[in-house]
Amino acid sequence: MTTSADNPAVQAEQIWSDALTLLKHKKSLSPRDKGWLEGVTPEAVYGTTIVLCVDNAGTRQALENELMQPLLEALNMVTGQDMFPAFKIVPQRSAAKAKPEPKPQPKPKAKPEARPVAVEEQPELPLSGGTPSLEDLGKEPFGSAGPVPTVPSALQPQVNSEVEGQYVVDRNKVQRDPETHLNKNATFDTFVPGDSNRFARTVALAVAEGSGKDFNPLCIYGGSGLGKTHLLNAIGNYALVKDPTLKVRYVNSEEFLNEFIEALQIPSQSQGRIAEFNRRYRSVDVLLIDDIQFLGGKEATLEQFFHTFNALHQANKRIVIASDVAPKNLKGFEARLISRFDSGLTVDVKPPDLETRIAILRMMATMNHSNIPNDVLDLIAERFTENIRELEGALTRVTAVASLSNQPVTRAMAEQTLQDFFTTDVEIKPTDIISQAAKYFHLTFDDIVGRSRMKNIALARQIAMYLTREMTSMSLVDIGKVFGGKDHTTVMHACDRITNEMQQRQDIYNYVMELTVRLKQGSN
Ligand code: ADP
Ligand code: MG
Repeated sequence: MTTSADNPAVQAEQIWSDALTLLKHKKSLSPRDKGWLEGVTPEAVYGTTIVLCVDNAGTRQALENELMQPLLEALNMVTGQDMFPAFKIVPQRSAAKAKPEPKPQPKPKAKPEARPVAVEEQPELPLSGGTPSLEDLGKEPFGSAGPVPTVPSALQPQVNSEVEGQYVVDRNKVQRDPETHLNKNATFDTFVPGDSNRFARTVALAVAEGSGKDFNPLCIYGGSGLGKTHLLNAIGNYALVKDPTLKVRYVNSEEFLNEFIEALQIPSQSQGRIAEFNRRYRSVDVLLIDDIQFLGGKEATLEQFFHTFNALHQANKRIVIASDVAPKNLKGFEARLISRFDSGLTVDVKPPDLETRIAILRMMATMNHSNIPNDVLDLIAERFTENIRELEGALTRVTAVASLSNQPVTRAMAEQTLQDFFTTDVEIKPTDIISQAAKYFHLTFDDIVGRSRMKNIALARQIAMYLTREMTSMSLVDIGKVFGGKDHTTVMHACDRITNEMQQRQDIYNYVMELTVRLKQGSN
């Protein structure tokens, strides 16, 4: 069965249209910024990458430099996951524009149509899911490079039909419900039980069914990538299936924090806005609050949360909290709130055992319509033991590399693809790291060693510092010197921040992994 969501072009249309709506409503964007956004045509979605066409380098630069943050936020809001834009320059967009994106195809399609496009750079080997650059997608075999006039896609030959199905990553169908903010694809059906998560799953199901009154609040804790967010969404989705009249709200604590801060922003209106914020959260039947640890030390927000919590709890509304540590170990939380959390039930999710990892991989491969031999699933399951997100990332990488290079997935090719993550004996110079990071983030060497505090530059710099610390034996002081005479504490801060963020943010994790691979491969 083919749905429009199977078609990368249709998906891109849908995601971009929602993202654009969000961005246009953003007060912090100037009319000029919004003008840049008007110049974008979505082309396709591959995994966590959305290919966006613009007609000149200036637009691309503006989007990459000034608008990246709001773009990433909007894409995340719309899809419920980190998605990364890859910009492609297509000078003759008038032709492309006149012809809308292709309609859903009669057969399931993993690949977009071959569509000649003008591109600037040469293709490179695609790596893992998220990447800020078009390079990683590889332009071939999707289209021939060179400034060829665009031709209606229906007239184009279909490519790679023999590997059809391999590159569909159905997870990119993830669309957050605008009302509940739930990811509809994260359900109990797609949650593979194992010893490591069985208890958490059972109580989550009880809460979702409404029979878990004693488990209020339910706190689910555990390391990164072990299924906490999945369970929260599964609870919300299931509760709504049972009773569609329920008001369910999933919220990440960073969003909660931002919404609260936004409510405070205009002092003359803040009373009304806080009242509205309270109404929004105190009227729900099921509140699912994710990554609560981020609220640590945010006193005003915690105060607000405390009242919300009490109001809901007293009214017997269901509250489920996810955290990366047990409630008693949460930092920056008052004892009164921790004791409220403890009054319900606390369960943990642990890293899955080998059998569960294989079962999870098998399910993911099936969902993606990928035909992966068992020995490859075994290989991945043996290598990635601590984190299901990494397990999934490895599977995506292997399927993507196979599909884009037009090879079947074999154990040898999977070994080759994954081994870059394990070899460590290549000697790497700090200047290589700086150059590679600059290239990867479309910045200059001077940006990386400079003093600009622009968000994207600062992030690239911190990642480069982190990698230098990880991949060379240089001291913090020496790293500081190479990075334009920075203090060693700046380097230390960068390393800490990236170490932390890699645990929390898939995009940062992907940047670091991909840069690591590029450096180890010695590509330039
Ligand atoms: P956490 O919130 O604990 O960091 P997530 O819930 O985001 O982790 O899980 C990471 C990824 O692994 C998600 O894509 C999720 O769907 C998947 N996942 C986690 N646990 C399972 C499971 N038991 N079965 C299937 N997929 C899982
Ligand atoms: Mg999570």
